[in-house]
Amino acid sequence: MTLDRRNFLKLVGVGAGAAGLPLIGRAAELMPKAGKRVVVIGGGYGGTIAAKYIRMMDKSIEVVMIERNDHFVSCPFSNLYIGGILKDLNPLTIKYDKLASNHGVKVVQAEVTAIDAAAKVVTTSKGTVSYDRLVVSPGIDFRLEEMKGYDAAAMEKMPHAWKAGPQTVLLRKQLEAMKDGGTVVMTVPLGPYRCPPGPYERTSMIAHYLKKNKPKSKIVVLDANPDITSKGGLFKKGWKDNYEGIIDYRPAKKVTEVNAQAMSVMVEGIEEVKGDVINVIPPQRAGQIAVAAGLVGDDKNWCPVNATTFESTKQAGIHVIGDACVAGAMPKSGYSANSEAKVCATNIVALMNGKEITDLSGINTCYSYITDKDAVSVAAVYAVKEGKIVAVPNSGGVSPADFSAAKLEAIYAESWLKNILTEMST
Ligand SMILES: Cc1cc2nc3c(=O)[nH]c(=O)nc-3n(C[C@H](O)[C@H](O)[C@H](O)COP(=O)(O)OP(=O)(O)OC[C@H]3O[C@@H](n4cnc5c(N)ncnc54)[C@H](O)[C@@H]3O)c2cc1C
Repeated sequence: MTLDRRNFLKLVGVGAGAAGLPLIGRAAELMPKAGKRVVVIGGGYGGTIAAKYIRMMDKSIEVVMIERNDHFVSCPFSNLYIGGILKDLNPLTIKYDKLASNHGVKVVQAEVTAIDAAAKVVTTSKGTVSYDRLVVSPGIDFRLEEMKGYDAAAMEKMPHAWKAGPQTVLLRKQLEAMKDGGTVVMTVPLGPYRCPPGPYERTSMIAHYLKKNKPKSKIVVLDANPDITSKGGLFKKGWKDNYEGIIDYRPAKKVTEVNAQAMSVMVEGIEEVKGDVINVIPPQRAGQIAVAAGLVGDDKNWCPVNATTFESTKQAGIHVIGDACVAGAMPKSGYSANSEAKVCATNIVALMNGKEITDLSGINTCYSYITDKDAVSVAAVYAVKEGKIVAVPNSGGVSPADFSAAKLEAIYAESWLKNILTEMST
């Protein structure tokens, strides 16, 4: 008996409509596409908002959001948990059920393993999903090749806690288990990385914990950057006023190697620094799926995009938002990701309906806690100028240098978190 093409297709369970895709080893189609469909990769700060807003603006577009976890834990405010101010991660955790019931977003819990930009298909651990337009918001992964010795086992001894969840809990437990008089070491990578003020807020929160619970201890911060990269003056004043003798901040100290056995890190291969607790924040790039899909630019790290639509300049029909994209002057923050998602969603709906696209109006505020009751912020509004995202002059700024607004800003920060997480999950 000869096996002709039609019988062969029947045998492997693939319809002739799959022409152009390799047949052998191809995963089964998870959900056949009838009308217009947008697939969103990632259910974090960017992905949830893009998915929800596309559905709010045009119910005729089917939206499938694919996320590896069944819940999301916010990095914003995770430093307060590490500092012992929050008792658990519950206030930082959201579920996706209301995105489905309120907006009809189809949420698939799966790992996306490949993107075929030409065929407009993503492959997941559960099967393939085809799309008309794709939104990629996978956050960050680590450039481990630049941090010798920092493998999965080392991460369990020296947590990064730069993706919120078990790593965050591990770092707090280690601080709790540390003897009074111990040394905490934190490494900060060269920018750009997720959340420019994040390491310095974490320094403050760890110092707060030590001052309250282990006053003979200290934290050594080995920063690869020549100086604090965000709100520098405010952090320095906050540290002087509250944590004199507890924080030992060392700029221009690039850590390139760790030794989990010896509990030490090496600065540029020459200076060894030991710690009782070591928080390694490695250099970062766009989430691995974006790298694998050829969405990163010449730097091999971040994804260049059109500043108005967030469509990739590398692959047509794919939009990249959040930490993974190059958004000009906008920092890699949750608020930026939220803002980019809304502009991206608006313009995807316009493009899919043959309408004119809308200019970007971006916004960002980053709050950082200095103590349990004092916070400072940096804020700006963004627009596109000559194809690039720039801060609108005089649109924002930083908190007053005398900390006169710090107690109020701590209240605003809490309300910011509640609002943004509610928006992502309802
Ligand atoms: C300590 C710390 C404090 C911070 N504080 C603030 C703050 O106060 N304010 C602020 O605005 N920002 C803050 N940030 C930054 C903020 O967390 C990020 O900028 C934001 O999460 C970026 O959103 P995103 O959508 O790009 O990525 P994420 O929010 O990380 O979402 C990415 C999602 O994609 C999923 N994913 C990735 N790859 C795949 C795949 N292949 N298949 C399936 N799912 C996948 C991940 O599981 C994840 O849920 C902080 C960050 C840190 C580390």
